[in-house]
Amino acid sequence: MALREIRILGDEILRKKCRKVEKIDEKILELIQDMKDTMFANDGVGIAAPQVGVLKRIVVVLNGKKPVVLINPVIVSKEGRAVDSEGCLSVRKRVVNVARPTKITVTALNEKGEEITFEAQNFYAREICHEVDHLDGILIVDREECE
Ligand SMILES: [Zn+2]
Repeated sequence: MALREIRILGDEILRKKCRKVEKIDEKILELIQDMKDTMFANDGVGIAAPQVGVLKRIVVVLNGKKPVVLINPVIVSKEGRAVDSEGCLSVRKRVVNVARPTKITVTALNEKGEEITFEAQNFYAREICHEVDHLDGILIVDREECE
């Protein structure tokens, strides 16, 4: 188990666009394990690679209690809209109201390199949208909904 330092708002690495993962090798699998450990150690419900300083398109999201790894995730369809509060491990002590779709379809690779496609709704969809935003340098503070 290895914990990595979480980058905080103001760190420019959080603003960069991440590169696709071309090959899932030992180093990538180690990164994924460290991301899971770091997420759980900080009571997070999701984490994206740039939050631990790595500019690769990898996220981990909790589906219930189970961590789901998405490599090169793409949100291929979106439906609905709901505003709710979100926190972020990189944005300390702040919750922000963010509008997200209520239902999405996602394609990605899993840790074995298999292509997966699935639907996510409500909170799970919100988590995935939040983490995928990180891969493009977008943070919740950019999406704050004003009343
Ligand atoms: Zn976040």
